[in-house]
Amino acid sequence: MGIAEKEVLVIGGGIGGVAAALASAEAGHKTTILEQAPVFGEIGAGIQMGPNAMAVLDRFGVADEIAKVAVFPQRLVLKDVYTAKELASLDLGDEFKAKYGFPYIVLHRSDLHRVLVDAAEKNPLISLVNDQIIETVEENESGVTVTNQRGEQFTGKAVIGADGLKSKARKYFVDDEPICSEYVAYRGTVPIEEISSDANMDDVIMWIGPNLHVVQYPVRKGELYNQVVVFKSLNYKPDSDDWGTPEEMDKVFEGCHPLVETALSFIQRQIRWPMYDRLPIENWTKGNFTLLGDAAHPMLQYLAQGGCQALEDASYLADMLLEHGENFEQAFLAYQEERIPRTTKVQSSARKWGEIIHAVDSTSILLRNTLLEKTPAKEFEMVDWLYGYEKVKSKVK
Ligand SMILES: Cc1cc2nc3c(=O)[nH]c(=O)nc-3n(C[C@H](O)[C@H](O)[C@H](O)COP(=O)(O)OP(=O)(O)OC[C@H]3O[C@@H](n4cnc5c(N)ncnc54)[C@H](O)[C@@H]3O)c2cc1C
Repeated sequence: MGIAEKEVLVIGGGIGGVAAALASAEAGHKTTILEQAPVFGEIGAGIQMGPNAMAVLDRFGVADEIAKVAVFPQRLVLKDVYTAKELASLDLGDEFKAKYGFPYIVLHRSDLHRVLVDAAEKNPLISLVNDQIIETVEENESGVTVTNQRGEQFTGKAVIGADGLKSKARKYFVDDEPICSEYVAYRGTVPIEEISSDANMDDVIMWIGPNLHVVQYPVRKGELYNQVVVFKSLNYKPDSDDWGTPEEMDKVFEGCHPLVETALSFIQRQIRWPMYDRLPIENWTKGNFTLLGDAAHPMLQYLAQGGCQALEDASYLADMLLEHGENFEQAFLAYQEERIPRTTKVQSSARKWGEIIHAVDSTSILLRNTLLEKTPAKEFEMVDWLYGYEKVKSKVK
């Protein structure tokens, strides 16, 4: 199966893949997204987007649609999981917005994904095709050819692999596997009327404790409440699903604050999400073939940045495609030159932040809490490197 010569092919239609297609189309390239699932969609949970990601959503012209379904929290708050003592907060009010140019938002993943897919569907340069499990990628004289599960082939001038944590595209750059953190998450949203009236609707709350945490925030304009319960399993066994069970979750959270107990009573227990990342790599570009999003730099979720980094990737990729015209090889090399150091830092900082919030020994906890309690809510220095990423600001409308 051939496709017009000028085509860019994107493998995977998640947040990263759809954003990559918007980037490619912005640079004038006819672009096809090849998604393995029979329909485009996202899982039923929330996602946080920092101002660094909001700048990109604005660039792609979807910030207004996003605002219709988002919640604009007032603070990010860290609380002790046992005592409910507030350890620190980050004020997301006017000063924060003025400093970073965009707000911090929380929303339902399917809302974010739908807004991006709608924008892609409306773009005459973008086609979206489902039921395409891309198995192989091959550079040849006609460009880059990908082959799906039925042996059908698509040839484009360039390919962007955005096929997520378990990426098949990544194997062309490195022989590695996802690394299990031995933590699992249980997550989901519940209608707001089903939860306790004590729930905090203004803030993103992260309850922290040794080897565990819980995140809570409202989504979909406050119609739903999102909760994520995360803990380290002491029963971890490689190549098995029999660890990090709901029963273990109940045991691990014994003795936590009543508000956290309430959170656990509302958490869905059917789907268990083991948490993985991979180590940063030094190259993800080969000729007219590159990677983006979790395929390139999967990270632990503790900084709430995996999706934001995929959006940053897309924005910078658009800049480089605009700058280098038809020379995809140059554009992709320039893209990775900027994006690898940035995403490496976020990947390794996410791991580090996980160690800090999950600290187990009493000295580390005392030291952490003392430092956190001394940090003013409007002290933005600590998050400047993350939210103040200048490279996404150049094309802000
Ligand atoms: C518990 C948890 C909480 C998180 N919270 C946040 C947060 O608050 N903020 C944030 O920014 N990030 C967060 N993240 C990270 C974020 O979810 C990911 O970084 C983001 O979804 C990556 O998007 P992606 O498009 O690169 O990959 P994915 O979302 O994995 O999408 C990959 C797509 O490719 C498709 N695909 C896979 N293989 C193939 C193939 N062979 N052929 C064709 N298609 C294929 C898949 O079906 C999928 O649609 C969180 C992650 C977790 C686990």
